[in-house]
Amino acid sequence: MTDIILNKIGKTYPNGFHAIPSIDLTIKEGEFIVLVGPSGCGKSTLLRMVAGLESISQGDMMIKGQRVNEKEPADRDIAMVFQNYALYPHMTVYANMAYGLKNRGESKNVIDDKVNNVANMLGLEALLQRKPGQLSGGQRQRVAMGRAMVRDPKVFLFDEPLSNLDAKLRVQMRIEIRQLQRKLGTTTLYVTHDQVEAMTLADRLVVLSKGKAEQIGTPMELYSKPATPFVAAFIGSPSMNLLPAELNDQGIKLSEQLTLPFEHDFRGKLVWGIRPEHLEVSDENDADFAMRIQAVESLGVETLIHGVLEQSDGASTPLVVRLSGPHTPEINSLMWLTVPEHHWHIFNAETEQRLS
Ligand code: ATP
Repeated sequence: MTDIILNKIGKTYPNGFHAIPSIDLTIKEGEFIVLVGPSGCGKSTLLRMVAGLESISQGDMMIKGQRVNEKEPADRDIAMVFQNYALYPHMTVYANMAYGLKNRGESKNVIDDKVNNVANMLGLEALLQRKPGQLSGGQRQRVAMGRAMVRDPKVFLFDEPLSNLDAKLRVQMRIEIRQLQRKLGTTTLYVTHDQVEAMTLADRLVVLSKGKAEQIGTPMELYSKPATPFVAAFIGSPSMNLLPAELNDQGIKLSEQLTLPFEHDFRGKLVWGIRPEHLEVSDENDADFAMRIQAVESLGVETLIHGVLEQSDGASTPLVVRLSGPHTPEINSLMWLTVPEHHWHIFNAETEQRLS
C-alpha cells in the first residue's frame, strides 16, 4: 500500500532560490526511505516540506491518500526527531515524552501506559525522572525517539538524528533505530549526509544532488548500478575510481598508451569507473596496467593503497586499491593490476548517464 506520494514537488525560497526543482517519490507503507546527499543538496528542505514546516511551492503531497499541501504540521500525524533532540530542558524525561499526548488531550492513564511502554522498549525506565541536562547524548537521543514513538504517528521523520553522537554510539543507535522501525512498521523518512548510515538503514535511498534526485533505489542497486558518476562517487567508501576516457574503435582509451579493449556503439568522451575493491593484483605479464604506490593505509581487516596510474608521459591519474587483510607494499614501488570487465561502470561524460 502506498503511504506518501510526492508528485512533482518543488521548493522555491522567498529569495527566489530553487532549492528543489521537481521531485517524484512514492513511498510504500512501512518503508524506510533515506534521503542522502552532500551539504546543501536539499535534504532538510524536502523533509521539512513533508513535515509541514516549510511550504510547498509546486506539486502535490499526499499522505495516506490525503492531500496535505496546506495542512498544519500538527494535523499531518507525523513525528519528527531532530539532530539537536529539541527536548524541553526544564521538563523531566517523562514529561518530555508525555507532552504530545497531553496536548492531544489523552487521559492520565493512557499517557502513563504509553510512556512506560515506550520507555521500556528504549531502556529509559530508570531515567524517567531526570531532566535532559542529566543525560548522555545517546540517552537524550533515545528520549527524542521515545517522544516521537509514544504518539504512534503514521510517519516518522528523522533529520540527521545521530550526527551529535560519537562513532561507536552512532553505530549502536543506527541498529536500534532500524530494529525499532521494523518492529513498529512505521513508514520512515530519514535524512543523513553519511552514506554508510544511509546504506545500512534504508530499504530504498534517494540520492540528492542540487535539489535533484540523481537515483532512487535499494542500497545494492545503487552500489552495483549507479545511474550517474555522482552516485558512483557518493555511494561506497573509499569512492569509486572514476577516470576520464574516450571510446573509439579499439576500446576505452584511458591515455595515449593505455586502451582497454571494449565494444560499444557509442563514440566520444566517457567516464570509466571501477571500485577500489574490484581492482585485482596480478603479474606484470597479465596486468592491464600498473599503479605507482604513494601511500598505504593499514586498517587490519583491510588495506587501502593509494597511488597513480603509471604512464610514460608522466600524466598522473589517482587510483585507490582496496585489499582485504594486511599488506605492506613499498611506497614508490609498482603494483600490477587487472580490471575485470564485469566490474566496470561506464558513463557518457556529457549527459552523465550510465552507458554500461
Ligand atoms: P545540510 O546537510 O548542510 O543540512 P541540506 O541538504 O539539508 O544541507 P537544505 O538545508 O535543504 O540542505 O538547503 C538546500 C539549499 O537551500 C541550500 O543551498 C540552502 O542554502 C538553501 N536554503 C535553505 N534554507 C533557505 C532559505 N530559508 N532561504 C533561501 N535558501 C535557503
